[in-house]
Amino acid sequence: MAEYLPTDPHFATRAICEGNEPEQWNSRAVVPPISLATTFKQDGPAEHRGFEYSRSGNPTRNAMEKCYASLEKAKYGMAFASGLAATTTIVHMLSSGDHIVSMDDLYGGTNRYLTKVASRMGIETTFVDAVNTQHVADAIKDSTRLVWVETPTNPTMKLVDIAAVAQVVKEHPKVKLVVDSTFMSPYFQQALALGADIVMHSATKYINGHSDVVMGLVATNQDDVHDSLRFLQNAIGPVPSPFDCYLVNRSIKTLAVRMRQHSTSALEVARFLEKHPAVERVLHPGLESHPQYALARRQTSGPSGMLSFYIRGGLAESRAFLQALKLVALAESLGGYESLAELPSLMTHAAVSEEERARLGISDSLLRVSVGLEDTQDIIDDLDRALRSAVPV
Ligand SMILES: *Cc1c(COP(=O)(O)O)cnc(C)c1O
Repeated sequence: MAEYLPTDPHFATRAICEGNEPEQWNSRAVVPPISLATTFKQDGPAEHRGFEYSRSGNPTRNAMEKCYASLEKAKYGMAFASGLAATTTIVHMLSSGDHIVSMDDLYGGTNRYLTKVASRMGIETTFVDAVNTQHVADAIKDSTRLVWVETPTNPTMKLVDIAAVAQVVKEHPKVKLVVDSTFMSPYFQQALALGADIVMHSATKYINGHSDVVMGLVATNQDDVHDSLRFLQNAIGPVPSPFDCYLVNRSIKTLAVRMRQHSTSALEVARFLEKHPAVERVLHPGLESHPQYALARRQTSGPSGMLSFYIRGGLAESRAFLQALKLVALAESLGGYESLAELPSLMTHAAVSEEERARLGISDSLLRVSVGLEDTQDIIDDLDRALRSAVPV
């Protein structure tokens, strides 16, 4: 930590200062330079000054990883070429014959990786409804090495009780708990403090927040987990480019202000939708009507910009609504400054079987919105107009 920092700086201060100390560069640049060199001159054979080859370590990446780690109040932060590259690397800590307990309501790409790729390497996954902690406990067996949860879930916005699951996992010394905290960002959810062994993010979403970088970030406080992931980061090679590290480091500087605005706007939009005659039901952990509102209050310091809602009607109404939007873009992904809306049943969750979608409540009338940073009233007006044109009320 830089000398000029207060002893226990708050989130926004860490986001700006940690890992970004001008003193680390000969030039004293206040913005970390983009270091593009792939290799670094050595003083003697195997005598280097911290950097040898850019896959194993890069100055721009190091600065960003340190800054990210500070957001999780973690000892270690590590960057990967995408969220899925982070996931793959974490799963590579396991061996053939090992077992993972994960959840039914999981990010589609993680589900696809576990069922279609990791399974071929002899790593089996059991998917349970992790909203009920007992289901996680019941699925752990001798060969289990990871419990992998995501909260809130996508797109139904259900919560997993991280502290309760951590309690269960702690009874099994060989099992590590991984929390995919992408939907909350470290600003609203501190998974390590709640008992997770590893926290991961698709930094593509809120952490970068500008929809122009694909990246994954992982943090841990455990030396053995760090050593193993750091080895795999180099041994497998899924590293992000220095330019992307520069962009994400820059984005982190505004994470606190962005998250506060996403949160305020989304709550206003959620309350507006809850009263709208064309809307059946709104799913947002910041609403008192959310079945796990109390857990949301306990586990997070606020809701993010993500919400889902059921439109009155079915596929025809959902389609008409999405096509009538003007300001809010019809697109996948989330967490950027621009508002996005999508239809999970045909888009992000199309790979989930119809039967499973029905069980999870992902019907053709369920719409997902990522509330961006445009003026809140303009977002509400756009949604209102599109809803009224899609559903005669
Ligand atoms: C997008 C996403 C991922 C995958 O991240 P990529 O950066 O797209 O590889 C993982 N988990 C969640 C919750 C996501 O939204």
